[in-house]
Amino acid sequence: MKNIAVIGAGTMGNGIAHTFAQNGFKVCLIDINEKSLEKGIMTIATNLDRMIAKGSITEADKKATIENIITYTDIKDGVVNADLVVEAATENVELKLNIFRQLSEICDENIILATNTSSISITQIASVVNNPSRVIGMHFMNPVPIMKLVEIIRGYNTTDQVTETIMELSKKLGKVPVEVNDYPGFVANRILMLMINESIETLYNGVAGVQEIDTVMKLGMAHPMGPLQLADFIGLDVCLSILNVMYDGFKNPKYAPCPLLVNMVMAGKLGVKSGEGFYDYSESKKAEKVAKMFEK
Ligand code: NAD
Repeated sequence: MKNIAVIGAGTMGNGIAHTFAQNGFKVCLIDINEKSLEKGIMTIATNLDRMIAKGSITEADKKATIENIITYTDIKDGVVNADLVVEAATENVELKLNIFRQLSEICDENIILATNTSSISITQIASVVNNPSRVIGMHFMNPVPIMKLVEIIRGYNTTDQVTETIMELSKKLGKVPVEVNDYPGFVANRILMLMINESIETLYNGVAGVQEIDTVMKLGMAHPMGPLQLADFIGLDVCLSILNVMYDGFKNPKYAPCPLLVNMVMAGKLGVKSGEGFYDYSESKKAEKVAKMFEK
């Protein structure tokens, strides 16, 4: 495997492209939005600069990484030579089904189609593809170049061979893959989103403020980051959408999103990506917080 197509250049897509490119793969980074592509490449360059400043890579590594990435706004042009497609577009069922319908038409039927979805059923996504056994979840964590875990999700039809290939590929990226089965939220978000939702509920009920809730979890539970700040980094729209998928999937009220989260998303307060969530991320503050993440 040499050529990787990454669909979506947002928070996760640019991190996934960065990680493959830094490990010597040729990456076609695809986004319907030209501005997302520009922003994605800028983010990759800034993150590589931080790694240079820390002494973990050289200027030459940065140059090689950037040169390994080509951007596309047309999905067909971007995936035509791909040995593997990793989809990291917006967390929306219909949007992802449309992308996979297109991939099914464009790509050879043996090309592995991976999705970075946080919660949408791999089996459902695979159902619109002509060879569903090659569809798999490859769930990277944010920020992708730093976080070791990749949750590998087997759909109902995913073969052992496809799973093994993606597990091995993840190891080549310096990651630790963990295989799980395909149920709403998989493992990571089934547990994490309940904690984030409960933190928002605690704020909503007036039990404590944002700083206080995050401090309790950081200092009391040794979490590197408070749950409300983590929600800002993930994106409040992404958190809402994952909770809704679990709520619908399990038909259990414990997954119902807190009304404050719903309101914040409707008001456009999406966290780091919109400049404001539970915290303020006006340009200088955002740079400061992101720099801290990469110092870890
Ligand atoms: P994002 O909103 O930051 O970026 C999504 C990008 O997809 C945007 O740039 C958008 O223009 C692009 N896009 C939308 N439709 C497209 C299409 N048809 N073709 C190509 N590009 C398209 O979202 P994100 O946070 O990067 O999330 C992407 C995926 O990764 C989601 O499935 C999400 O659940 C998952 N995920 C997110 C996180 C996180 O911390 N944010 C962590 C793990 C997994």
